[in-house]
Amino acid sequence: MAAAPALKHWRTTLERVEKFVSPLYFTDCNLRGRLFGASCPVAALSSFLTPERLPYQEAVQRDFRPAQVGDSFGPTWWTCWFRVELTIPEAWVGQEVHLCWESDGEGLVWRDGEPVQGLTKEGEKTSYVLTDKLGERDPRSLTLYVEVACSGLLGAGKGSMIAAPDPEKMFQLSRAELAVFHRDVHMLLVDLELLLGIAKGLGKDNQRSFQALYTANQMVNVCDPAQPETFPVAQALASRFFGQHGGESQHTIHATGHCHIDTAWLWPFKETVRKCARSWVTALQLMERNPEFIFACSQAQQLEWVKSRYPGLYSRLQEFACRGQFVPVGGTWVEMDGNLPSGEAMVRQFLQGQNFFLQEFGKMCSEFWLPDTFGYSAQLPQIMHGCGIRRFLTQKLSWNLVNSFPHHTFFWEGLDGSRVLVHFPPGDSYGMQGSVEEVLKTVANNRDKGRANHSAFLFGFGDGGGGPTQTMLDRLKRLSNTDGLPRVQLSSPRQLFSALESDSEQLCTWVGELFLELHNGTYTTHAQIKKGNRECERILHDVELLSSLALARSAQFLYPAAQLQHLWRLLLLNQFHDVVTGSCIQMVAEEAMCHYEDIRSHGNTLLSAAAAALCAGEPGPEGLLIINTLPWKRTEVMALPKPGGAHSLGLTPSPGDSAQHGLCSCSSPHLAAAPAAPAACVRSTRAPTDSASRPPPTKTDGSVTLDNGIIRVKLDPTGRLTSLVLVASGREAIAEGAVGNQFVLFDDVPLYWDAWDVMDYHLETRKPVLGQAGTLAVGTEGGLRGSAWFLLQISPNSRLSQEVVLDIGCPYVRFHTEVHWHEAHKFLKVEFPARVRSSQATYEIQFGHLQRPTHYNTSWDWARFEVWAHRWMDLSEHGFGLALLNDCKYGASVRGSILSLSLLRAPKAPDATADTGRHEFTYALMLHKGSFQDAGVIQAAYSLNFPLLALPAPSPAPATAWSAFSVSSPAVVLETVKQAESGPQRRSLVLRLYEAHGSHVDCWLHLSLPVQEAILCDLLERPDPAGHLTLRDNRLKLTFSPFQVLSLLLVLQPPPH
Ligand SMILES: [Zn+2]
Repeated sequence: MAAAPALKHWRTTLERVEKFVSPLYFTDCNLRGRLFGASCPVAALSSFLTPERLPYQEAVQRDFRPAQVGDSFGPTWWTCWFRVELTIPEAWVGQEVHLCWESDGEGLVWRDGEPVQGLTKEGEKTSYVLTDKLGERDPRSLTLYVEVACSGLLGAGKGSMIAAPDPEKMFQLSRAELAVFHRDVHMLLVDLELLLGIAKGLGKDNQRSFQALYTANQMVNVCDPAQPETFPVAQALASRFFGQHGGESQHTIHATGHCHIDTAWLWPFKETVRKCARSWVTALQLMERNPEFIFACSQAQQLEWVKSRYPGLYSRLQEFACRGQFVPVGGTWVEMDGNLPSGEAMVRQFLQGQNFFLQEFGKMCSEFWLPDTFGYSAQLPQIMHGCGIRRFLTQKLSWNLVNSFPHHTFFWEGLDGSRVLVHFPPGDSYGMQGSVEEVLKTVANNRDKGRANHSAFLFGFGDGGGGPTQTMLDRLKRLSNTDGLPRVQLSSPRQLFSALESDSEQLCTWVGELFLELHNGTYTTHAQIKKGNRECERILHDVELLSSLALARSAQFLYPAAQLQHLWRLLLLNQFHDVVTGSCIQMVAEEAMCHYEDIRSHGNTLLSAAAAALCAGEPGPEGLLIINTLPWKRTEVMALPKPGGAHSLGLTPSPGDSAQHGLCSCSSPHLAAAPAAPAACVRSTRAPTDSASRPPPTKTDGSVTLDNGIIRVKLDPTGRLTSLVLVASGREAIAEGAVGNQFVLFDDVPLYWDAWDVMDYHLETRKPVLGQAGTLAVGTEGGLRGSAWFLLQISPNSRLSQEVVLDIGCPYVRFHTEVHWHEAHKFLKVEFPARVRSSQATYEIQFGHLQRPTHYNTSWDWARFEVWAHRWMDLSEHGFGLALLNDCKYGASVRGSILSLSLLRAPKAPDATADTGRHEFTYALMLHKGSFQDAGVIQAAYSLNFPLLALPAPSPAPATAWSAFSVSSPAVVLETVKQAESGPQRRSLVLRLYEAHGSHVDCWLHLSLPVQEAILCDLLERPDPAGHLTLRDNRLKLTFSPFQVLSLLLVLQPPPH
């Protein structure tokens, strides 16, 4: 007979149950103390240490020495392989037996030559199930290997997680034994913890919480930890409680297993490969034991690594993908940064990713997945649409420092009007544990309550891998339908989004970028990585264009498809959200620089090969091939090699034929002003013309004036800009009484995330860097180019030199800058106060531009004190404006009428050496009348970033200029020309164009290539069934809406013989 009901005190009752399940108190007599029964040591333990990450087959051949529990091993980044020989006692027949393993670092268990499970204390995986129930005839002796990486789930930071790694760290094995596991005790512990969670989470205002508490109390009453026969009664009490169902209106939580693995961050790329194996093999084991468990996995690159390093594991992943339990998501090569990659690079993330998923898993992903990335470009909805995706999941905006984002489920409308359905898991995390607290938060915190009745719940250890545990699954399964709580179902992202879509009439729409009000330092940190990114985006653009032209014009030319795929994948890898952002350790930054070096050197080889193919068979003098890889005519001063290794300047003049665009060959390789036709024309240069007006630098009182007839630039004796005039109108662009090209230094000490964050208060520490009069000197004195240069001591440790350059015919003045930078927690910017007034400034983004306010009216305006842009930003009033262009910078701001470009930071964590050393970069100023669109700011920024190429022509270069493409409207940019991923005999090209002005436009695309068919296609190059275009007189008519991106498939005629 049960005891008579007693009055219960809330707190003592709650704590009574807590003590009953505590791992700290009363374990001699409580339930937790009974989780494991008998134990015994392993039969033999041996190990060896290696600095390499060895394959299993090689590792097991090595010389293992006796080892024991308590041994230390290391240091950081090494690997300790353990051989574990074990014999299960015969007396344990009928029992569940575990290998209990606790060590620092991250372990992976190998059995019979295959990985079977990860073991990490931090990820709550400290036991490996040897058998669920030992049978009488089961073998009881076994040899396992445990590969322990000497770094933790989150690297090996010295003192704090994001501190630079401690290279001397040592690791310890603290437990290695066999033990009997009591599954019934485990299930009771899960129930009791959930009941405690409900009692606490629903609180004293809610009667259901009392029901939970009294149920738990009664379970303690009936359960004697020493007598397992009492457990079923307690279990029945719990089942009765959890079996009381909720009503029809209950919110549904879609719980999906997940494991965010940063592709490189506080550990190198190579460790990520092993993190994937450890995490995913553990997830597979859970799928086997829990057929309803669904695990979402992103990032094709990681799958590709596992495919090549762990083929056995990979084929099992594919098997579980067929069963619908292992669900590839995201559609991209890696989870890239959402701000810095170019539009084309973002397309390639999907192109490489979706094609991989299709090939390896039989279908493309239907959800874009960037849970951890630092803000999302306004162009992403259109890019997603073009890549077969209408659904997007992230949660990072919950990190906003200032404004709380108003939605968790909403439609997101991009720059061109494309709309996608977005969901932020309302628990504001992708690493849930399955607790009641998190389940309740998911509903309580949901900003779209009443509009959307479904939420995602991503559970499993993440960032450094780890993933879900059986305990998390046991919790979530128990909560499937309990009155007082939301319904919980193990579900896939597809099921979640389908449920959201089916009931979406009430959802709100957010227009424009999803700006993260944090981590704004990542636009600037690690300037060399940023520079490598911009440069390699250009190189791959140029290689693809020239190779495409060579393919079209030469029967012998083989398009380097495999090499280009390899180089693109390296670039895409570096665009991971902790690499291009600069928020990685030094080791990763060095690897990233090697990737860029590979792209540079191989890219240049491929460029030369394509140029050689273009020259082959053409009559004409040997010399230089001058190539314009942009789709409009250019006349520019360029430095051309002279015999003997020197260079001289040349103005390659426009040939006067407007159809001539692009590639030029140059037979007088010492002086040329290059007229370049849109997207590649070939011509030979003429002798330099002297008829152009010179930009003569004049010097009076230590100041220098440069004037090319278009703009007049006046520098004071320290190199600052005192005047910038548009000659034709006499209009001054520098604010009255102010100076431009003013370097400013800020204290840059964030609150925690050093490499990531620049805080608003840094603006209060602004200190202009003042030079010494008389440091300005004339560089090049007139002719085709005028220049002046100066030195500037930034601080006792850092200095800067700059050449200010103005070329004939050029609408902008360039500032070539070299900095020797040795600072700690300082931020260098350059400012240009403009004589322009506007409440909005314009910034280039992927395939377009957007406006952001120049004032701090609201918290939403003020939180964007530091923003990102690509190649240009512009401040315009009616009829006049000033644009600031750059060749490798991304951080920027315009406050009031001051344009500011962020140049260099000096954070110390996680890379203490970040940005220390020499830097070279160029920015440029362009003032203009009319709108920036009509004035050609966009084209000028392209020109700055895509210099004319002068490649040696190994055989006679074409004697006449030749242009492959031109576009009739200046609003339309031909961004990309590449070989199609597939197509008849691989003789198809893909062209990508976009509308850059923000206007509805009809235009003509002129082609001089032998094209037999033209079809519109999507960004994945899938033809639009209704997209056949009529090719008439070598031209195609195209219609664009504002910022629309169009892709064309051009089927080339068979090669000439
Ligand atoms: Zn991440």
